[in-house]
Amino acid sequence: MWPLAATAGPRTASGSNGATCHYPESNADALEILSNYYPGYWWDHTHLTVAVQAHPKATRKQLRAIHDAIATWDEALRNCFDGLITLTDVTGSMPSEHRAADIVVHFVPHAGGVVFGGYAICGDHGCPNILVRSDLPPSLDRDPYSPEYIGWVTLHELGHALGLGHTTNLLESTDLMGYGWPDLGDPVLSDCDLNGIAFVFAWALEGGEPHPPAEGPYDCALD
Ligand SMILES: [Zn+2]
Repeated sequence: MWPLAATAGPRTASGSNGATCHYPESNADALEILSNYYPGYWWDHTHLTVAVQAHPKATRKQLRAIHDAIATWDEALRNCFDGLITLTDVTGSMPSEHRAADIVVHFVPHAGGVVFGGYAICGDHGCPNILVRSDLPPSLDRDPYSPEYIGWVTLHELGHALGLGHTTNLLESTDLMGYGWPDLGDPVLSDCDLNGIAFVFAWALEGGEPHPPAEGPYDCALD
């Protein structure tokens, strides 16, 4: 089962927010916008590429979960922005994926700190590297680290890579960009996440020159 791969509902006329789709509501109050905290942390192009670099012992199921997460975002973006914003998985198709891909998902046995399952490393322009770990820190008391959970972590980190911050009601929110999942329920790739993407990529939806996102947080009540 893949609860996040919800098919988009009927399209509606584009609202002021720019996303032309309906995804489930979540209990997010608002979404932080990463470029507000890290200037330069936004994309000036909309056809983004992503490549997965996995450690040699990654299993087929784990890899599928990561690639499925990329496909889930790509499908949502294509549904909601009529193909204007895309996230193409170029794994295995480029001579140098590090150079070819905007975002590299590093699937590693262990990564950095003690309590996270994933981490987006952000530079001057965007978040080109994402770490997703295959072995959970013991503190999370969740064993084994299921492919489904790896997929969720990847979706969350890709949300960061696209420019979304966390929900303002972080701990209680089961929105994809909250921390309430998996304890309070499965994560929800929500209408608010996609409208948050529209907020971040407003320059592209307006058809203008690239410019940084406006001041957030993006209020989910605007959906
Ligand atoms: Zn996060």
